Amino acid sequence: MRYLLLSDIHANLEALDAVLRAAPPEDFDALVVLGDIVGYGADPNAVVDRVRELEPDIIIRGNHDKVSSGIEPAEGFNQAARFAALWTHDTLTPDRRAYLGRLPTGPVDFGEIEICHGSPDDEDEYIFEPVDAVEALRGTSKPVCFFGHTHVAIGYWLSQEGFDLIVNESAPTTEVLLDPSRRYLINPGSVGQPRDGDPRAAFGVYDSERAAFAWHRVPYDIEAAQEKIRKAGLPEGLAKRLALGK
Ligand code: ZN
Repeated sequence: MRYLLLSDIHANLEALDAVLRAAPPEDFDALVVLGDIVGYGADPNAVVDRVRELEPDIIIRGNHDKVSSGIEPAEGFNQAARFAALWTHDTLTPDRRAYLGRLPTGPVDFGEIEICHGSPDDEDEYIFEPVDAVEALRGTSKPVCFFGHTHVAIGYWLSQEGFDLIVNESAPTTEVLLDPSRRYLINPGSVGQPRDGDPRAAFGVYDSERAAFAWHRVPYDIEAAQEKIRKAGLPEGLAKRLALGK
């Protein structure tokens, strides 16, 4: 089975469309969306529509989807994130807000994989440190678990013998073959707001028959996305960071 994995789209239509051109969902057996469909970017309505039309086989909510749909307050958000979440809430039509508010909470098992937004224990937790990755790997329900939330394309494995990172080398495509004696926790990276220093849109492909996972990066029209953020009156920092990948 070949899974297309999209995470942290963040209302960036230009980035999402570039990914969908590079990886048409109909070429895959399953489309998996790991949350944060909206927030930060200037196209929440269009991005919700795009995602809905694609009818993902499995989709979970992210922290920005919760706040932007109005089911949770923006507590713990920094100023720019809070401003963007409130703007997104007010810009979304009631129907699209309701769609986001109904998205399932991770973790969720789907076929051979488990998915979560933050970590298997807590949808809002950030896995940045190896110690947190080890803890999360101990709590996964399947040998391969995908997560998002940090906007960093990275992977970790744990086995009887040890633990290590699998680092995305930032090549256009970086494939790793998964060892069946190890458990994996993999972040495909963010479609719409990468923060790993590579501004290109990120997505993942998992081929369970070959036990292969690949990180992909595609360039997109960053200037167009930035222009929309400025026109919408969203914080300038949200436009700037797209070009930096930070
Ligand atoms: Zn996010």
